[in-house]
Amino acid sequence: MTRQRYVIHLTVTSRDLDSARSLARNLTRSLHFLPELSAGETTVSAEDNQLSQHRVFCDRRLDGGRRCPLSADHLGACFRTSAPGDVFADAATDDTVTADDAD
Ligand SMILES: [Zn+2]
Repeated sequence: MTRQRYVIHLTVTSRDLDSARSLARNLTRSLHFLPELSAGETTVSAEDNQLSQHRVFCDRRLDGGRRCPLSADHLGACFRTSAPGDVFADAATDDTVTADDAD
């Protein structure tokens, strides 16, 4: 049976777009164990402008078919994890969410 793709819209409150993107990255990382999740394609939009979506992960394809787990606007070279399947588990160091970020 072919699996269909769906998007789950999860409304949150946040101080600004950067904080919302940070929250989305951390929420996605916390769910990386779900095989159904296409984590790299996570986006954020303003509630009143859902057609303008902002990627939260770089998601550039790396050697070996894995994807870059760093934030979409990261500086420097893309990051490569050491183990397949740990793509988003090892990426928690590119930024840290504070209590203010998580409003
Ligand atoms: Zn990258």
